[in-house]
Amino acid sequence: MRSLRPGILARRSWVCMQCRRASSSPAASHNPKTRLPDFPARTRFAPSPTGYLHLGSLRTALFNYLLAKRTGGQFLLRIEDTDQKRTIPGAEQRLYDDLRWAGLQWDEGPVVGGPYGPYRQSERTATYRCHAHDLIHDGHAYRCFCSADRLDTLARHRSQAGLPPGYDRKCADIPAEESEHRAAKGESHVVRLRVEDYPTFEDLVYGKTGQNRSSNKLDLIERVYDDPILLKSDGHPTYHLANVVDDHLMEITHVIRGTEWMASTPLHVALYNAFKWTPPRFGHVPLLVDKSGQKLSKRNADIDLTFFRDKQGVFPASLVNFAALLGWSHTKKSDVFSLDELAHIFNLKITRGNTVVAFEKLWFLQKAHAQRFAANGGPEFDDMVSSVSNVVESTTTPEQLSRMIQPRTLPELITPLLQADAKSFTNATEFVNRNATFFTTTLERPPYTPTNQAQAATPAFPISSLHTAAATLCLVPEPHWTIGTHRDNIKYYDGASVVLELNPDAVDQNSDPEKTRVNADKTFKKELYHYLRWALSAGAPGPGIPETMVILGREETLRRIREARELTADKRESNPVTARRARERSKPQSSPSQSQSKGQDRSWMGTLAPRA
Ligand code: GLU
Repeated sequence: MRSLRPGILARRSWVCMQCRRASSSPAASHNPKTRLPDFPARTRFAPSPTGYLHLGSLRTALFNYLLAKRTGGQFLLRIEDTDQKRTIPGAEQRLYDDLRWAGLQWDEGPVVGGPYGPYRQSERTATYRCHAHDLIHDGHAYRCFCSADRLDTLARHRSQAGLPPGYDRKCADIPAEESEHRAAKGESHVVRLRVEDYPTFEDLVYGKTGQNRSSNKLDLIERVYDDPILLKSDGHPTYHLANVVDDHLMEITHVIRGTEWMASTPLHVALYNAFKWTPPRFGHVPLLVDKSGQKLSKRNADIDLTFFRDKQGVFPASLVNFAALLGWSHTKKSDVFSLDELAHIFNLKITRGNTVVAFEKLWFLQKAHAQRFAANGGPEFDDMVSSVSNVVESTTTPEQLSRMIQPRTLPELITPLLQADAKSFTNATEFVNRNATFFTTTLERPPYTPTNQAQAATPAFPISSLHTAAATLCLVPEPHWTIGTHRDNIKYYDGASVVLELNPDAVDQNSDPEKTRVNADKTFKKELYHYLRWALSAGAPGPGIPETMVILGREETLRRIREARELTADKRESNPVTARRARERSKPQSSPSQSQSKGQDRSWMGTLAPRA
């Protein structure tokens, strides 16, 4: 009967026996540096539908996925729903949706099927019973008919005596025939594994590991054993039995899971030994803790994956990238990786000890991925455009919006804005808040205040010099209204003359005149940028000035520059001396620098074009 275990006929040899045997030896067939196997790994993610995917379980799934992909193996999904009482309705579907959202598509498992199914433990009960009976037959397990009351009294007695819990093996020596007979009559019982000592094992992350049973003097008189339950009185398996049987039958070669399972692994290895099976290789990944050392747990709603996705608008690429770096180290220069890139470089160099989760890194990665999407286009960028569009539409009146975007469509306005400011993108809502001035025609500017540097200058810059510079930049006709043109024009605008004419003493006879000019130009440009940002976007951070001018469009830019000029008109009048100088300076021939523009066609600038 033993050869008729359900599921056994479906077994297929994905990994040759030699490799399987070799993989049982700690050093052999694993690269000592990367700890990667030299054969395709079959890994699995085995969640219980008692909760949702959270940061820690996403990382576990990811490491298993990456190990399989890196070695050309398979990644399985198995639903461990042995604890039906704690199963949350809908959790299984959410797990599928969340894994797919993260890009972790399983090769075998529920929905997609596979040769080792079914992949839901509640559908495999007969298989577990069959294997439990094999162990009873071989003497590695026995039926225990002790009542709950008896076990309770035993536990209380041991606790009062300050002894560790355990079972006194009252039922271990019931003759096989009697045990069969009582079970056949329907007497309630569990099946226990007979364990003398738990074996140690070689963990891929922690090295040789295991647990020694602490012996106590009283143990000699009242000896107890762990003898864990494999099959419960309702005939259903415990996690340990189902987990080991499935990993074996599904030919799993590597089990990567959280350190919270490490204490169970010696028991699992004992089970493999009892079955005379080669255990898979285990690698336990450290606990995730917050900055104060507190464990992050799935009961903490803050780290439920939907929190990141739905509330924070985090991209799957950023979250996966973030999860990958939790405890795993690499030698690349940058930390920014797509899932595919991770699959090419992943290894099992996982650090021991708790991993502190610092969410600043997540936002850094989010901005980095936003920049990648903006640079490459594609579906991720389309999603960014539509999420920003949705926010704008829900926060702006249609009239205002149509006045603002004309003659473009909303995505036509948002696309260049995202391309120019992707470096700041955390999520659509924050992006729209930061760039709110692009979605309104009524700018509310605070009163204009020059930069500290300009205020300190003697004499201070006249505002008219900034008005003139801004007006000059606006002379560009529509066909030339591009980022490149504006960038050049700002660059070539002769700011040095403005400063040096105001303050001739700045020219120190002993210092390098070119250096003096360069510094003077820098001072003016700094103020000009500051003024233009105030004029065009009320001083809000966002894309650079040339980009802003293009995104706003010529008409709106001109309107804002005019408006800004009117708002600062009083200041222009306040200093007659500097106003006169500025007027002189704004004469056509003293506009953009002459020397640097050689070779460029600036005929469109009319009289403002630099002289040849
Ligand atoms: N069902 C267990 C869990 O919920 C799986 C542990 C393991 O990977 O062996 O995490």
